[in-house]
Amino acid sequence: MKINSDYLMSDKGLDLLNKLFYSSGEGILFFEKDGKVAALNPRAVEIFGYTEEEIIGKSVEILIPQSQRVRHIKYREKYVSQPSPRQMGAGRDLEGLKKGGDTFPLEISLSYITHENQTLVVAFVTDITIRKRNEKELEEQRLKLKEYTERLERKVRERTSELEHMNLGLQSQIQERKLAESALKESLEDLKRAEQEILNSLKRERQLGEMKSRFVSMASHEFRTPLTTILSSANLILRYTDNEEAKEKHVNRIKGSVQNLTNILNDFLSLEKLESGAQKVILAEVKLKALIDEVVDELQGMMQEKQNIQVECDDILLVSDAHILKNILLNIVSNAIKYSMPNGTIEIRLYEERKVYIVVKDYGIGIPLKDQDQLFERFHRAENVTNINGTGLGLSIVKKYIELLQGDITFESEVGKGSTFTIELPK
Ligand code: ADP
Repeated sequence: MKINSDYLMSDKGLDLLNKLFYSSGEGILFFEKDGKVAALNPRAVEIFGYTEEEIIGKSVEILIPQSQRVRHIKYREKYVSQPSPRQMGAGRDLEGLKKGGDTFPLEISLSYITHENQTLVVAFVTDITIRKRNEKELEEQRLKLKEYTERLERKVRERTSELEHMNLGLQSQIQERKLAESALKESLEDLKRAEQEILNSLKRERQLGEMKSRFVSMASHEFRTPLTTILSSANLILRYTDNEEAKEKHVNRIKGSVQNLTNILNDFLSLEKLESGAQKVILAEVKLKALIDEVVDELQGMMQEKQNIQVECDDILLVSDAHILKNILLNIVSNAIKYSMPNGTIEIRLYEERKVYIVVKDYGIGIPLKDQDQLFERFHRAENVTNINGTGLGLSIVKKYIELLQGDITFESEVGKGSTFTIELPK
């Protein structure tokens, strides 16, 4: 079967179109120009609830809610004057009126036909109640979902701000904790420092005590020789009433021994002053050459027969502590004298480069290698000096003095050949 226009124009075709009209799922209504209903199919009857007889010949406006009728008449007349197939009420929600008075949503598409010299308007009507209900439900659900989402977002926002608030609180707590910790740390450090200071002063106290007792034992030994010398020389002086030369010799011996004793006592006093922190540094301009001459002069009494001191000095002015410098030099030069041969030479050289250097060189007994590391330790005396008087305190004092002046002292020595002590002072 071929359904073309020819077929549709045949009896069978007309029958087919007739069936289409009666079985259509859309309501189909025919109107005349004045709006009177000319025909309608069963679906239209079903949609509007009127019987065919009740509606045919009536104005189409009975199918339209009262409120829209006047407007509809205008539309209808306008359409009839210029009919064309189109959707009705585009963009507007259209409503139909059922026989019982109920309104319902509908969609209408309009067309027109000319039949038996008469123009008929055809309206295809679709009841969209179910679709609208679905749309409404969908809209309601969408609104619910929106509301729910908004509620959720609100909650999330509230929770977030609560969390932020908590976080801020937490941060400030952490900050406070940190501050407290650092305060605690500081107090702990203060406490540790105080403890260390107490320990240090206890240690100093103990060392001083130890030193004093070692000094007493050393002094009782070291004092004996000069005291014996003094006693025997004094006795001999009494005996040599006429021998002026012999008397002078013994007076000098007494002087030497007294000098020895004074040195020992001075060493001890210096050490105690240094250890207790009482030694102050008083800075002033020092004429170094003059100071060295003074030291050499003062030590003349100590010199052994035929010993001589050669001084080679630049005329140097230095800002330093003259008293401390003199004590250092007295110690180093008197050691050079003490530990040299009776006819030995001692050389003192003073020069200036980046720093100021004082070099004291002797050609004496030298220092054994095994003693060199401990030479600046208190009471340490080398193994080769047992026959020579000394306390082992001088160099430890020198070392401390040099530290006070921010200088340095080093030495080189070889047993049997001599020693060279170099003092380095900042300008
Ligand atoms: P003291 O001379 O009273 O023993 P010091 O502290 O001055 O004490 O010296 C420590 C030791 O260093 C001395 O006992 C000695 O062994 C050694 N010493 C110091 N200077 C010299 C030197 N110029 N030559 C050889 N030995 C030295």
